[in-house]
Amino acid sequence: MQILDGKKAAQVIRDRLKLDTAQLAAEGKKIPHLVAILVGNNGASESYVGGKVKACEEVGFKSTFIRFEDNISERELLNQVSGLNDDPDVDGILVQLPLPKQISPEKVINTIDPLKDVDGFHSENVGKMVQGLSGFLPATPFGIMLLLEHYKIETKGKHAVVIGRSNIVGRPMSILLSNNAYPGNCTVTICHSQTKNLKEICLQGDLIVAALGKPEFLKADMVKDGVIIIDVGITRVPDSTKKSGFKLKGDVDFENVSLKSSWITPVPGGVGPMTIAALMKNTFRSCAMKNFD
Ligand code: NAD
Repeated sequence: MQILDGKKAAQVIRDRLKLDTAQLAAEGKKIPHLVAILVGNNGASESYVGGKVKACEEVGFKSTFIRFEDNISERELLNQVSGLNDDPDVDGILVQLPLPKQISPEKVINTIDPLKDVDGFHSENVGKMVQGLSGFLPATPFGIMLLLEHYKIETKGKHAVVIGRSNIVGRPMSILLSNNAYPGNCTVTICHSQTKNLKEICLQGDLIVAALGKPEFLKADMVKDGVIIIDVGITRVPDSTKKSGFKLKGDVDFENVSLKSSWITPVPGGVGPMTIAALMKNTFRSCAMKNFD
């Protein structure tokens, strides 16, 4: 078993971005600027957004963290996003999901200027991804592709099983893995909560992406020897031995599945850091496209 170390791979990307950003600064050019919006006080969301903002600052980007109360109206949030669209200093806009009930996430996402949609969730960017055109790829699946690339994992002809069909992870992941590209060229099966014979399907998987949000769901008897495992899940489970009162668990029973796998991502330290690195790559590209290309 070998570890797909997302922390290490992300550091390589961050070091490169740091150099490139320093170069922009030295030349007196515009530096990438990410604006992250958080609505409400969800602890997990707060730490994700905080991590993204901090990572941007570490590579020398400008970043702005905007917080709104959870009773903000949809109209007001859309106005705020439109204001950021019109601000030439802003390169990337990220609205952390989930949003409170009164706000449609689709409306908010599709109000973001597609050229500033560094999370890659806007319909225009999703459409481009499906057609294999250049746009912003959704950060988590993009990060996973970068991780596979970093470790030179062969994907061609493999049977990839994606568990989860969300718009932010499972579905885009299935599209990217099926693309005629590297990484890609997989035969993909996408599974979800209504899939009947999940275990049988997983047992056929050469590569399994688990993105369902159920701690330690994927067990050793559901995978074949030599499988490549990408564990996207992050769930906070209570742990009184930790200062925070919780620990993070992935969707894979790491202890036992790792004994059968050829490669596996840990949680934490696997997909999470790659998601942030991919977001930063998108932000840098957004700045470059608008200012220097
Ligand atoms: P989601 O709740 O939107 O989607 C979960 C999917 O899992 C659904 O499509 C559902 O059909 C499927 N599912 C649920 N139960 C199932 C079952 N028993 N069998 C098969 N499929 C089942 O979740 P999401 O936003 O895609 O996130 C999934 C997980 O990934 C969560 O733990 C989330 O916190 C984590 N996540 C991590 C990162 C990261 O950077 N590491 C980024 C995004 C999401």
